[in-house]
Amino acid sequence: MSESTLAVEKVVIIGSGPAGWTAAIYAARASLSPLAIVGVPATVPAPVLPGGQLMLTTEVENYPGFPHGVTGPELMDKFRDQAVRFDTRVLDNDVVSCDFASTPMRLTLCDGKVIQAHSVIIATGATANWIGCPNELRLAQNGGGVSACAVCDGALPVFRNKVLAVVGGGDTAMEEASYLTKFAAKVYIIHRRDSFRASRAMQTRVLEHPRVEVLWNTVVTNVQGENRITGLELENVQTKQTSLLEVAGLFVAIGHSPATKFIKDSGITFDEKGYVHLSSRSSETNLKGVFAAGDVADSTYRQAVSAAGMGCQAAIDCERYLATHGVH
Ligand code: NAP
Repeated sequence: MSESTLAVEKVVIIGSGPAGWTAAIYAARASLSPLAIVGVPATVPAPVLPGGQLMLTTEVENYPGFPHGVTGPELMDKFRDQAVRFDTRVLDNDVVSCDFASTPMRLTLCDGKVIQAHSVIIATGATANWIGCPNELRLAQNGGGVSACAVCDGALPVFRNKVLAVVGGGDTAMEEASYLTKFAAKVYIIHRRDSFRASRAMQTRVLEHPRVEVLWNTVVTNVQGENRITGLELENVQTKQTSLLEVAGLFVAIGHSPATKFIKDSGITFDEKGYVHLSSRSSETNLKGVFAAGDVADSTYRQAVSAAGMGCQAAIDCERYLATHGVH
């Protein structure tokens, strides 16, 4: 079939985390027959799965509607089932580049196929940055006690009244350490330099806390533990002295990277941190007919529930856009 005879999708949703599936549910219920391109599993450099970061989370206790908690993968299965129930079509593939300037827009998949679309919702999320030391990623899966989100995982019973460690020196590390003090017996902050880059107010809160101790000029060189973390091998970057710290949990807070490689040269505008820039409170990007939702466009909140809310907004914005352009 020649490209010109290919059907043009009304809306293509790229990404399959809470934002993508929520956008799909709303778009499908608005009779837009969305096509969700959900990605394929990848392992380099860290595990990336269709379903996003929740696929690497064990128990989710802060998603409303689940008073007894739900596992991340189970929650994502429910999102997917709900989207499919309303006739979302699902494509297990990756988009590698986008031509938003052509009419209709053209999305190229990793197998070279091209999808044409009147509108696109980008919901590819962001991935946590990891330290890169041995055993870190292995113990970040299946409840091994290594996490990149204290707000998601820190209140789990396995971390209560235990000695925990946070790595990083930015606002996230301060926020995570502060949050963990509500449950932990003690929280170590491990930072590679001798000063934090976090805002003064957030630093003060943790530095003054009696159960927080900072290990300055220190890096994690190995995570110990078979099925669960038992300790960290540390090195002081100035003295080169090594040590072992027994901990029951490690929270890595060294930033996130939005999944934007496939739109790098597409004309989309990014903010100063590299996230998709949105105009005011809407999901509109700088390009007509291209919307964004979830962590790919949000470096601040990064929660499943806030991403889902943004997915809803994007579908509604998209529906209005299509209606004003005569696509029903
Ligand atoms: P960030 O500001 O980029 O800080 C990352 C931290 O991780 C830095 O201290 C950095 O060390 C350290 N780091 C980076 N790579 C590392 C590595 N490989 N090994 C060890 N340490 C490493 O990231 P963030 O804290 O996630 O904050 C992101 C943005 O969100 C910031 O603009 C922040 O202000 C904002 N934020 C705001 C709030 C709030 O206001 N409530 C809360 C959270 C985040 P160096 O300092 O040595 O570079």
